[in-house]
Amino acid sequence: MTPVHPLPNRPLTVAVLGASGAVGQELLQLLQERNFPVSELRLLASARSAGQICQWNGQAIAVQEVSESSFQDVDLVLASAGGSVSRQWREAVVSAGAVMVDNSSAFRMDDDVPLVVPEVNPQAAAEHNGVIANPNCTTILLTLALAPLAAKRSMHRVVVSTYQSASGAGARAMEELKDLSRVVLDGGTPNSEVLPHSLAFNLFLHNSPLQSNSYCEEEMKMVHETRKIMGLPGLRFTATCVRVPVLRAHSEAVNVEFAEPFPVKEARELLAAAPGVELLEDPASNRFPMPTDVTGRDPVVVGRIRQDISEENALEFWLCGDQIRKGAALNAIQIAELLLPAA
Ligand code: NAP
Repeated sequence: MTPVHPLPNRPLTVAVLGASGAVGQELLQLLQERNFPVSELRLLASARSAGQICQWNGQAIAVQEVSESSFQDVDLVLASAGGSVSRQWREAVVSAGAVMVDNSSAFRMDDDVPLVVPEVNPQAAAEHNGVIANPNCTTILLTLALAPLAAKRSMHRVVVSTYQSASGAGARAMEELKDLSRVVLDGGTPNSEVLPHSLAFNLFLHNSPLQSNSYCEEEMKMVHETRKIMGLPGLRFTATCVRVPVLRAHSEAVNVEFAEPFPVKEARELLAAAPGVELLEDPASNRFPMPTDVTGRDPVVVGRIRQDISEENALEFWLCGDQIRKGAALNAIQIAELLLPAA
């Protein structure tokens, strides 16, 4: 890999590929909120939403159908249109001299593509070949909580169960959950078209393709990506991913085993001080993190940290995070911020 040259020291031409989607819309909001140095913003999607007008920073910008010429003179592409679209346009982006921060899983495990959570492994963004991958949403949220603990004691094994909201499957899945909930409340039969089953008053195991080991793709993404981000290739890791009828924000039940006991008080202090993490522990009123606590917010909120009663070297905890925000759009923009020249 060639050493990175930072993004140019001037306001940038930024393209958002997938601008009409759930992550794309969040990217637009965050570019504005974080005062990212933008001179021109190009909104790209498929022919389906070409012509759609988005308001951004006081301007009305039309979505364009992505084409070969879309990347001319672009400095930065924030891609969130799915893996096949990222694969299709990678060469055009890189040969235009732009950097692509990609939200899809297309390149995450490629040796020459850094997989970055800025609070965990910012140094990984220092070298790239024009593409930096944004990890899977559940993995980003999880590694924020694992990293400060792994820095203190040798981490041996992670067991995680996820509770993933409709928004993880995109804007249309969120609308479907709302629509089918109304159908059920009105006594009707919910028929899903976006998700494989109705999520209304229901849940199901994550529907990504099953692998030969009977884990689904989403579960194996967590395994491989966590190891790569944390630089722990031998970390024993198992996951069960479940889609739940929450509109937005994912939750995870986490069990982590170390080489030795990890005092709960120390874990709590480390997590409270960790970047991107917030604690919410109120045992007196039995109040711990919920998806609604994190919706539209940046931090991953952790709570219910406790000693595993079945294993003296293990801790249990619970976390919630807005996966469209920190699990996708915010993390992508933070990666781009790592490439900005120092002020
Ligand atoms: P989404 O709401 O369904 O949006 C998909 C976007 O991609 C839309 O803008 C769509 O444009 C565009 N698109 C689809 N096919 C295209 C094509 N052939 N050419 C150009 N644009 C095309 O999906 P999303 O949830 O935002 O997810 C987008 C990506 O981010 C996926 O790779 C997903 O895995 C990843 N991701 C999502 C989340 C999440 O929480 N949702 C988290 C992490 C990563 P049209 O409007 O024209 O169809």
